[in-house]
Amino acid sequence: MSSDIVYLDGAFVPAQDAKVSVFDRGFLFGDSVYEVIPFYRGVAFGLEPHLKRLEHSLAALRIPLSIDWPAVLNELVTRNGGGNLSVYLQVTRGDAGRRTPVYDASMQPTVFACCNPIRNIYADGPDGVAGIAVIVTADLRWHRCDIKANGLLPNILVLQQAREAGAAEALMIRDGILTEGGSSNLFIVRSGVLYTPKLGSEILGGTTRELVLELARGAGIPYQETDLSYENLLEADEVWISSSTRAVVPVLSVDGKTVGDGEKGPLWRRMFELFSQFHHRLMTGEE
Ligand code: PLP
Repeated sequence: MSSDIVYLDGAFVPAQDAKVSVFDRGFLFGDSVYEVIPFYRGVAFGLEPHLKRLEHSLAALRIPLSIDWPAVLNELVTRNGGGNLSVYLQVTRGDAGRRTPVYDASMQPTVFACCNPIRNIYADGPDGVAGIAVIVTADLRWHRCDIKANGLLPNILVLQQAREAGAAEALMIRDGILTEGGSSNLFIVRSGVLYTPKLGSEILGGTTRELVLELARGAGIPYQETDLSYENLLEADEVWISSSTRAVVPVLSVDGKTVGDGEKGPLWRRMFELFSQFHHRLMTGEE
């Protein structure tokens, strides 16, 4: 099994031998941050922006950490067969030896990473990507959604709500403004222009969101980072979500209402092609 070897506090060990204290603050309080990074044929996709965001999250929680992530993650991926894998990494504030909310700044963080097999979305092309249905629901999260923290209960609840409604993602709305999906960022297309909610403490700065905008800039696709309403969503020609392991996914219905003509849109096809070209350059080193 490709997920058998995990990394825990400096050692690569079989998953069943990896043990964390019951007094670890990640377990007791969700006092921890994480990242999910895709690797295709053993090569990381977007390692740098993920590590930059991790630094941002650690700094926000004031967890000090010095570690050679590229070395650790590449070793982990190699030990797990080096194929198409998503690497999950988590850093907690550490084991306090007892349950107490306040922490000692000198605590030793717990560092964990493991792998999961993923599909290589670029191997199958745009026809291999299924359009999805989404629902829209209230955003019940805190006001530091820019931190990729493990306190994911609101996300879990809305994703389960989506699943039970026969949808693949839940888009969240706060004070009439759409924020993001339970595990993705949001894009809409209207009259050839791409729109996405602007960065701030109400959304996670997605690495894939950033790449969409970078590729749009390069291809001359006009875009705006702005507030979006539920009406904007219903009136959109195209709706997409973005995340690391899924790249960009076309949304074909919102709350049971068809988006555009109910097909994967032309701008989504263009963006998927730009992602595929980016992926090709990464894998081959070609310009
Ligand atoms: N927003 C939320 C709430 C997420 O959980 C995720 C990813 O899991 C994203 C956005 C997308 O981030 P990225 O593109 O870096 O995977």
